[in-house]
Amino acid sequence: MKFAEIAGHRELKNKLRKLVHNERVGHALLFYGPEGNGALPLSMALAQYLCCDDKSSGDSCGKCMNCKLFTSNNYPDIHFVYPVAKTQKSKDKPLSTDFREEWNTLLKTEKYFGLYRWLETLGVENKQAQISVYESADILKKLSLKSYGGKYKFVIIWMPERMNNSASNKILKILEEPPAFTFFFLVTEDTDVLLQTITSRCQKIQVNRYPLDITKEFLMEEEALDQNTASVIAQIAEGNLSLARKLCERSESYRDYAVHFSSWVRACFKADTHLILNWVEECSRYEREKLKDFIRFCSNTFRQALNLNYSESDHSNDVFNDIGFELSKFSPFVNSANASSILELIDSAEYDVSRNANPKIVLTDLSLKMSRQLRVKP
Ligand SMILES: [Zn+2]
Repeated sequence: MKFAEIAGHRELKNKLRKLVHNERVGHALLFYGPEGNGALPLSMALAQYLCCDDKSSGDSCGKCMNCKLFTSNNYPDIHFVYPVAKTQKSKDKPLSTDFREEWNTLLKTEKYFGLYRWLETLGVENKQAQISVYESADILKKLSLKSYGGKYKFVIIWMPERMNNSASNKILKILEEPPAFTFFFLVTEDTDVLLQTITSRCQKIQVNRYPLDITKEFLMEEEALDQNTASVIAQIAEGNLSLARKLCERSESYRDYAVHFSSWVRACFKADTHLILNWVEECSRYEREKLKDFIRFCSNTFRQALNLNYSESDHSNDVFNDIGFELSKFSPFVNSANASSILELIDSAEYDVSRNANPKIVLTDLSLKMSRQLRVKP
């Protein structure tokens, strides 16, 4: 993977390049930050860059023998470790290598994936996946083998927070006396649960969540979304490209959501019980996941409206323009006097829906309370 294939992170990529050129890449690196931040592909790009024979462009050349091996997933001295669980295919002591094919395929199709997506691919999303002590033993065994021909060996441990204690201790032993020409790249979302003795041996690389503009660009370029929809999804995804991608699967719903949102707030503002009940009837037909998605959309829209009161930003990109609902005219009704209550009401509705409460009751209750809130004067 080239650095150029990964969204955003211009400064961080420069920093990694510099580390390579100044020969300051430590034997153990800890990439840390929230889900969907591109940390895993970045660690892979760094590995390839270290091995590339022609770094003159500031990125891997993609043409030398090593680059070709990396690109085709055939570089023999890179070992991936990730959480796994027992499946039909691997019933006893499952190891990462048992699932390498699934891993390569997922990396190829959606490189920003999170843990849930990975487990879903394996069909074990309801199981407790972990990195076991057998896995650590397997790494030790692989590292004791002679390097295939390339200069460097790599062990990329994704989600090391899923190592149990005995696995962690075994890894720690290797980190204490690292074999020559071997790099360990740990990619974590949660440094707090890692052994402090492990993190203290790692050079730390913070990988921040993606800013709004990069998320939007990613959605338009890689998911071929139009500007309006990309803009809405980018706001909801909050810099998590894995989530952004998932939300795309429902993107055709956003126009629908906008229509339902506008008729809802109009009905609430007028306190028109008949209109409210019609709206409840219609929205409670959404299946549960979609209803949760719609409620998140509403929550995000209220936030946007609130922000509009404090910024000059023009909202010509908004999905609401398509349906003739002007968010800027609605925004004064969401203000400092009611905003936090409104967001609380919505959060609690989302919570209730996810706890299998009856959607009609939740939406009716939410609407009646919302009706009161929307008429609170600033
Ligand atoms: Zn190359």
